[in-house]
Amino acid sequence: MVFKTLKFTGIHKIFMSSMFFYLLLSCNSTKLKRFEYPDPVDTQTRTISYQDKKIYTINETVFADNQFDGARLNSFTQVNDSTFQATILPENEPINQSPHFAFRIWSKQPRTVYLKLNYPTSTHRYVPKLSQDGAQWKPIDSLNFTLIDSAKNAFLKLNINAKKLWVAAQELKTSSEALNWSKQIANHKDVRFKVIGKSKLKRDLLALDIYEGDPQGRDIVVILSRQHPPEVSGYLAMQSFVEEVLKENRLQKDFRSKYRILVFPLLNPDGVDLGHWRHNAGGIDLNRDWAYYKQEEVKTIVNTIVNIASESKSKVILGLDFHSTQEDLYYSFSDDMHSDIYPFKDYWIGAIDNAIPNYIPDDQPFPLSQPISKGWFYMQFNAESLTYEIGDETPRDFIKLKAEVAAREMMKLLILR
Ligand SMILES: [Zn+2]
Repeated sequence: MVFKTLKFTGIHKIFMSSMFFYLLLSCNSTKLKRFEYPDPVDTQTRTISYQDKKIYTINETVFADNQFDGARLNSFTQVNDSTFQATILPENEPINQSPHFAFRIWSKQPRTVYLKLNYPTSTHRYVPKLSQDGAQWKPIDSLNFTLIDSAKNAFLKLNINAKKLWVAAQELKTSSEALNWSKQIANHKDVRFKVIGKSKLKRDLLALDIYEGDPQGRDIVVILSRQHPPEVSGYLAMQSFVEEVLKENRLQKDFRSKYRILVFPLLNPDGVDLGHWRHNAGGIDLNRDWAYYKQEEVKTIVNTIVNIASESKSKVILGLDFHSTQEDLYYSFSDDMHSDIYPFKDYWIGAIDNAIPNYIPDDQPFPLSQPISKGWFYMQFNAESLTYEIGDETPRDFIKLKAEVAAREMMKLLILR
């Protein structure tokens, strides 16, 4: 592993002295701070449009619906005898190109249909996943799936019958799944499950508080997930990461006796259940609101973290935020940003590299720019922080394996501090 040395270039100096500054509302470092970022974003609530929740009926023979949490289907029409079109639109615009879709399709008689996924404002991104029950999913056979018109449309060949076939961009992981998972995790003696507040549309905001013994004065690790609704692969990584921390081996037990781990498994429950592409019910990308906290979800979570740290006279030393993008990578701090546990990141990514043959972690450092969670941990606590990105189509068994390795290597490094 190579350690990068600290270099202040001319650009860095100008950047640090003139472009970036922050306003402390209070001199007390245990209070929530507000920040100005070099690249600010207006996160004032904006209007979203809701789907019509309904069953679409074509000639009383072919049907499609979006009447379930996480669904996204904005219209369903017939193109010709055997071809149908599902139109997919975002909650509002402008928006990141993550065109999530999820619906069910069925027919009176068994038959083969061609289904065109149409994105009037975007291009296709996710390999469709199919399910017979909404719980067990597998990617569509590549022979039954093609992209046309420069990915403006996708074509699926489906065998349908009277039993509803689920078709979705990613496995459906709704707010009720997050609640069930959290309750199951909370069966562990070291886990306390809490509802810390409500989203804009009054869905529960969940937290898991993990430690053994007295948490007073202990350093805290924070884990975040699902600011962005379709980012299920990152959410799966978060689940495996947390489950690894709760195993009953020496490393895990020692770690839970030394640190406190706060887990927020689902930051955007409204967006997830409404089948959004990116935003919350306030029409905002939550991962741009970590400076002024205008959205209820971010406000609740930052207040919870700051209050817990303040009450227990603790410091947050590490924040990990699980997301998905096209490829596996880590968005980390640039070399001029030295957290309290610097250079943890270089050791950690190096250890993950060493532990998994044929996998080279893709570290993509960048400086503070927009108000995202990664910058917040640094500015609020001088904590280390990484955005842990998983590829949309990364094999699910590899997501689990890598998350378990990442959790173990994190614990090994932090236990030795
Ligand atoms: Zn994301």
